[in-house]
Amino acid sequence: MTAITHHIPDALLAAYATGNLPQAYSLVVAAHVSLCLDCRATVEAHQAAGGVVLDSVGAEPVSDRLKSGVLDLLDAPFVPEPRFQRSGVFPGPVVEALKGKPPRWKSLGLGVRQSILAADRDGSVRLLSIPPGQAVPDHSHNGLELTLVLEGSFRDETGRFAVGDVEVADQSLEHTPIAEPGPACICLAATDAPLRFNALIPRLLQPLFRI
Ligand SMILES: [Zn+2]
Repeated sequence: MTAITHHIPDALLAAYATGNLPQAYSLVVAAHVSLCLDCRATVEAHQAAGGVVLDSVGAEPVSDRLKSGVLDLLDAPFVPEPRFQRSGVFPGPVVEALKGKPPRWKSLGLGVRQSILAADRDGSVRLLSIPPGQAVPDHSHNGLELTLVLEGSFRDETGRFAVGDVEVADQSLEHTPIAEPGPACICLAATDAPLRFNALIPRLLQPLFRI
């Protein structure tokens, strides 16, 4: 794998470590952290800091019933959580979001495909597959967009993004990502609000595709 050059900003890693990120962003951060030792170390440092805070908080007494209830549970049969391993280009957290199944791709035209993993009022997270040489329609953002490359690479006005790289785009950025030659560029993209497309036709199609 090529070296990762675009990382998750520290503030987002801190929010992730303390459980304060919306689900859509958490998935992108978890997927990047599973590929990036640097960001994993930073998350662990934030978690350790959280542990120190917990240690310094005074103990809260609990009832005898709660205590004996917890001890009883220790004897209950252990049901392991399913563990999702990396599959193909998809890191474990993405496989988990896919519930272990392959993505259900839908065509957006021009060879671009997407598979929505989760969408609600707080945001959405999707896989995008962009054929080499193809541009994602020029768009700007109502909120924050995180894009993690899982396969191939793309380039836009701000630089080049290859496997493991994350682009952080905010309201001020208008960009046209273009997939580079090679395999289709597969990305995991999270937004907290619908994208705004500048061209009329994508804007008309937007409600249909929920992009
Ligand atoms: Zn990183």
